[in-house]
Amino acid sequence: MMRIALLGATGSIGASTLDVVARHPQMFRASVLSAHRNVDALVALCRTFRPDLAVISDPALEGELVRKLRAANLDARVLAGPAGLVEAAAGDHADCVVAAIVGAAGLESTLAAARAGKRLLLANKESVVMAGNLLKAALDEGGGALLPVDSEHNAVFQCLPGGRPDLTEAGVRRIVLTASGGPFRGLRREQLAKVTPDMACAHPNWTMGRKISVDSATLMNKGLEVIEAHFLFGAAATEIDVVVHRQSIVHSLVEYRDGSVLAQLGNPDMRTAIAYALAWPARIDAGVSALDLIATARLDFEAADRDTFRCLDLAYQALAAGGLAPAVLNAANEEAVAAFLDGRLPFLSIEAVIEECLDHMPDASISDLASLLDSDLTARRDARRIIAGLAS
Ligand code: NDP
Ligand code: MG
Repeated sequence: MMRIALLGATGSIGASTLDVVARHPQMFRASVLSAHRNVDALVALCRTFRPDLAVISDPALEGELVRKLRAANLDARVLAGPAGLVEAAAGDHADCVVAAIVGAAGLESTLAAARAGKRLLLANKESVVMAGNLLKAALDEGGGALLPVDSEHNAVFQCLPGGRPDLTEAGVRRIVLTASGGPFRGLRREQLAKVTPDMACAHPNWTMGRKISVDSATLMNKGLEVIEAHFLFGAAATEIDVVVHRQSIVHSLVEYRDGSVLAQLGNPDMRTAIAYALAWPARIDAGVSALDLIATARLDFEAADRDTFRCLDLAYQALAAGGLAPAVLNAANEEAVAAFLDGRLPFLSIEAVIEECLDHMPDASISDLASLLDSDLTARRDARRIIAGLAS
């Protein structure tokens, strides 16, 4: 029986993970569940899954969570705040940690799980983008396995021999990440000037949280994924390509020196990637319907429109610059996306905020977590100042 700590249980990845877990009660048990502020949703999940531990990362809501759990006759222990998340990730409550918190808020618990040698199912791509090298060091220290949940990286993992080999030894020429193109594929910049948060969150193929939905609409999601692929698979920026594939059936591809191209296909449903990562190296039922090739009929591929969606190039630039740049890119993006979702920033200004933050980035390197968090805070302060300036 594998005990699972699901950090970000109340989100979209959280729901897909619990769906797979519930299909295999003999194999998996959700022993830890976390939410940030959504106490009622967390209590409802506790009623169904009976975890040993419930974590609420906003410490102000600890009392309310305890009261509501006890009122529902549930005896789960409660932890709160960022320290509670770290304890839940590293402690003896679980064998496997699913990192499904959105944004930089997931960084410390992801690192703690890696350092503790847990089997780490990584959905929280922001933590790799911010701290790829720190995460690699934590994984080396802990000795546990990292299984990518992001569908593209899960696909690449499936197409590589033995998961994450040395790419040169394995004969890999390049990794090709597929992108759906998001809800605004084919639009021109003047059409993008007036798009709303709800339009940006209406993804054609995937139902996801609002932050990653906006990232998909700007193509920053693909940019973050290029950086993620660099750290997870050791590929140089020049060995990672992006191709737009609007059906989201081919989840990514690996091209080999001999001309072979291996791809992973399936219906766009995160439960496939999650089930694969949970059971690896075995394969289990994920509740996903079989891919109907005849009904799918065609698979289209086109180049990404990098002139209209400039965030992808900004991410490549940040990866090439190295050092602090990916963390600054991520911080500025999180602040800009939050402002866009709040109605404080137009869609096209998201890229402008990120570009300006990268231009004014201090010349520093990341030596440890404390200096990284410090740089993250500085970048966020800069981004907020730029956003306020654009608004006035
Ligand atoms: P959601 O917004 O649906 O869920 C986010 C989860 O994180 C919720 O449980 C939320 O709790 C919690 N959370 C939010 N803010 C904080 C915080 N400050 N501290 C601690 N916990 C917090 O996001 P998704 O499930 O869509 O995405 C999660 C991660 O997975 C992201 O990094 C995303 O990029 C990645 N991912 C998602 C995919 C998808 O299909 N959704 C696909 C590939 C990757 P509460 O409900 O209480 O707010
Ligand atoms: Mg993805």
